[in-house]
Amino acid sequence: MRVLKFGGTSVGSTEAFEQVSRVVAGERERDPRLVVVTSAMAGVTDALIRSAKAAAAGDEMPYREARNDLLVKHQIVAGQLIEDGIERAAISHLLDEKLREFERLCQSIYVLGELTPRGLDVVSSLGEQMAAPLLAAVLRARGIPAQSVDAREIIVTDDTFGAANPLLEETCRRVREKLLPMLEEGTVPVVTGFIAATPEGITTTLGRGGSDYTAAILGACLSAEEVQIWTDVNGVLTADPRIVPDARTLPELSYVEAAELAYFGAKVLHPKTILPAVEKGIPIRVRNTFDPDGPDTRIVPEPKPAGTPVKAITAIRDLALVTVEGRGMMGVPGIAARTFGAVARTGVSVLMISQASSEQSICFVIPSRDVERVVLSLQEELERELRRGFVDHIEAMENIVIVAVVGSSMRGTPGIAARVFGALGEANINVIAIAQGSSEVNISLVVGDDQADEAVRRIHAAFELHRVAELWAQAGGSL
Ligand code: ADP
Ligand code: ASP
Ligand code: MG
Repeated sequence: MRVLKFGGTSVGSTEAFEQVSRVVAGERERDPRLVVVTSAMAGVTDALIRSAKAAAAGDEMPYREARNDLLVKHQIVAGQLIEDGIERAAISHLLDEKLREFERLCQSIYVLGELTPRGLDVVSSLGEQMAAPLLAAVLRARGIPAQSVDAREIIVTDDTFGAANPLLEETCRRVREKLLPMLEEGTVPVVTGFIAATPEGITTTLGRGGSDYTAAILGACLSAEEVQIWTDVNGVLTADPRIVPDARTLPELSYVEAAELAYFGAKVLHPKTILPAVEKGIPIRVRNTFDPDGPDTRIVPEPKPAGTPVKAITAIRDLALVTVEGRGMMGVPGIAARTFGAVARTGVSVLMISQASSEQSICFVIPSRDVERVVLSLQEELERELRRGFVDHIEAMENIVIVAVVGSSMRGTPGIAARVFGALGEANINVIAIAQGSSEVNISLVVGDDQADEAVRRIHAAFELHRVAELWAQAGGSL
């Protein structure tokens, strides 16, 4: 049994739906026991969220326009790929129903002038609710016995709207109860990615890009042989191909490396995706829908030696560096604990910490949008120290980027940091802060956002990552 997840671009157009049908048909020949997970069509979740936010701000136009655009977008696919009149009428009816709901929701948001996280989840869940029935109908039209499943019936979460956490025991019970009989009778369930519900049935979402997470949860519950993430690139590359044109596919990655990459912004995987799979030792494969026979990436517990200590470079943007500084801080016990305590109280998560050895400053990186709250909380906590001059200032530098250099063989390979900084020095790139995780699977550095792309390219070149396939073969790996 395998789980196949198709991302937004894989269901972004009529041609893409056709291509997905071919992939599913091909995979079914190898083993008919498949569960399909689908994202919303490309751009749909963004449009839903934008519309709801505009409605809350008093603008009705975006949702009215989006309603029509979304109808046309889905209807074109249905019109071109579903010949059967009854099937087509059923899909039209469903699309109409979902978009009416969208309009009603946006209307209420507009009237109230308020958008709660709970309300936003209901609106943003509609994309998948349209895509899954559409994909199931397209697959049926191609002779594949498929049936759509609304994940709100099977994935149960807490009520952390926007980033809900699955309650695995109850989820797995429901997943098995619903999907196993379908698999038994040869039906391919087409499950809505990204969306779920609380035990009370209130709609939640798993966070942006969360369809990957859905696939891993289903894979874990069903003890799948493999979870396949089908996307628009050839697996996980040595860097984002939009930044580094000669980025190459990594044949293998460890779970830890994949998690670091996802965490530090490699959009190809949702950061939490691999957790359920890791716990069960289920391999993940990242494949290209539009190049199914091309190179791909396997994410496994113990990858073979890669022949290169560094595997990939990523960048995470829209960040700010907060610095707490003061000569009098030296030797004031507990100041670091109090600083991070104050940050923790705001609920903001810290992406990176770096402390100069002189102990005169503590700096850490947080998302830009949280700067005000965090600085305020620090000012309150350290009020006395500020007044007495033990702490000189609390400062935030915006428009910064973390560049993360990831690879588990960096551990125990001397000279990696020197090569990284050498490459950046040659390009006159100013490194604002550095941190190395205790796991030594990554080195992260902070640079200004105007230098981030160049930094990624320079490090990529310094480690010759465009030769990754060759290096891997030399180290004994086989493709
Ligand atoms: P999907 O819609 O299939 O979920 P995403 O847009 O979420 O696809 O993720 C795929 C995109 O991630 C790619 O098109 C690519 O631009 C981007 N990306 C960023 N870093 C990497 C990387 N290291 N390897 C592959 N893709 C990456
Ligand atoms: N449609 C959702 C999003 O755009 C989930 C996903 O694509 O994985 O975030
Ligand atoms: Mg994605």
